[in-house]
Amino acid sequence: MSDQKPEPPPPGTAEEITKKLEDFIKNSLGGQVLFTKLERPGREPEPEEPEETPVVDVASVFDFKLKPADIKAHLDRFVIRQDEAKKVLATAVCDHYNHARMLREHHERGDGGHLEFSKQNVLIIGPTGVGKTYLVKHIADLVGVPFVKADATKFSETGYVGADVDDLVRDLVSKANGNVELAEHGIIYLDEVDKIATLGDRMGRDVSGRGVQTAMLKLMEETEVPLYPPNDIRAQMNAMFSMKRGTKPQREVVNTRNILFIVSGAFSGLEKVIEKRSAKATLGFVAAITEKPTSESLFKQVRTQDIIEYGFEAEFVGRLPVRVVCESLTADDLFLIMKNSEGSLIRQFEREFSAYGVRATFEDDAMREIATRAAEEKTGARGLVTAWEKVLRDFKFELPSLGLPDLTVTAAVVKDPAAALAQCHEDAKAFQTDVRANEVQAYAEAFKREHGMELVFATDAVRSIIERVEREGTTVDALCKRLFRDFPFGLQLVSRNNGATSFLLHREAVENADAWLSTLVAQSYREAHSTPAA
Ligand code: ADP
Repeated sequence: MSDQKPEPPPPGTAEEITKKLEDFIKNSLGGQVLFTKLERPGREPEPEEPEETPVVDVASVFDFKLKPADIKAHLDRFVIRQDEAKKVLATAVCDHYNHARMLREHHERGDGGHLEFSKQNVLIIGPTGVGKTYLVKHIADLVGVPFVKADATKFSETGYVGADVDDLVRDLVSKANGNVELAEHGIIYLDEVDKIATLGDRMGRDVSGRGVQTAMLKLMEETEVPLYPPNDIRAQMNAMFSMKRGTKPQREVVNTRNILFIVSGAFSGLEKVIEKRSAKATLGFVAAITEKPTSESLFKQVRTQDIIEYGFEAEFVGRLPVRVVCESLTADDLFLIMKNSEGSLIRQFEREFSAYGVRATFEDDAMREIATRAAEEKTGARGLVTAWEKVLRDFKFELPSLGLPDLTVTAAVVKDPAAALAQCHEDAKAFQTDVRANEVQAYAEAFKREHGMELVFATDAVRSIIERVEREGTTVDALCKRLFRDFPFGLQLVSRNNGATSFLLHREAVENADAWLSTLVAQSYREAHSTPAA
């Protein structure tokens, strides 16, 4: 950098100024400042209507007419079990969007006053892979609202908790294609929320969990999140320039009042808190010796006080009035997921194979075997992916090149995939041979149609052609056309000499086609011109 250089001309556009600012700030502050991409580069001609038109419409929210049973029926198509969660979520979602609609109508009529409503945010307790996200995603799709999911651990690991949590809201806006009003009615789903519980005596809990709770609480209550993060210099500059240009004033903040929050976690250890509390309550009675309650049955008795004891702020728990337990899935449930869910992994496998022209079918006993294995993994339906991947890995790699038209996945395939794949190779060979033998026959038929003479290929000739096709990597038709290119003319000579119209070809005729034909012609010529002995 020389200080002798003349002053550069003053930059003119937002793009140039922000670029300079970026360089300056990056050089002086390192990577502490965030720059997002400019959606609309400054050098573009000034657009009349600066923002892209949103493809989704908030009308669907205000037109909300679903009943809880409709939502449950929709979820039943995809999600196996979790009936309680389906009902509870369906009801909470209906209350939430009915309220949004009524609020809108209330405003439109110009009614004064305020419609009281306490938001039905939901806490789902349940192990991993049992359909929690799947439920929420299908609900969001059905209602037509944007949906954002994040793991709470993501926030507790970083320094900028508040700003990061606000990003969830901005993500909703981008999911809504920039439609702020629609984003304001979206669903935010925070998983692994149990990991932000804060109790000194619990292992592995981050103290910054409290920070995440506070930041989330602010969102769940009601706050206005700026559309652009305050440390995003480029976005701020861009907003300033739009204002200067006098383009349509945009909404700069997103209000979180009508965003529905759903949080979930496995809450391992919470069952002990519940058990201790309920044991205290029954103290003094002679408790009948009963079976030890399962975690699930204990979770179902959860009270606010237990969750606070587990490490949550009372205000945070208070903002999650709806609580429901998702059950762990048995091998039978996992089988039903594969067999009946519209989103079944099996449909996906079928599509993947069919892309290569292979019609794959999965027999029930194969699915049962996989379900048993997956259940042992204790990762819910996620175990299905792992179990199938192990079995199908080589099939997925090799089958597309084998040329087999179908694959039947039986329990035997699941138990010994290597042997089953070897059998596929054998079948493919036989199938290919069959196919090629038919192709030899097809060539002979075409030859007859075109030249009026019959070629009869003996089995050894067919085998010889197939061997050569495999060796040379060509097709039956191409090889025959090349080998027998002189046959139409040569056989016509023969036919003229001895009247033959049908010719039997053995291996020799394939291996030395030209020599075989010459001999045949010469022989017929001799036959025609030899004068019978007097
Ligand atoms: P989590 O409970 O951890 O949120 P997910 O909902 O993400 O689990 O489940 C992972 C995948 O497993 C889903 O995308 C879905 O394909 C399948 N799955 C999980 N549970 C069910 C269920 N009860 N019914 C049907 N599919 C399920």
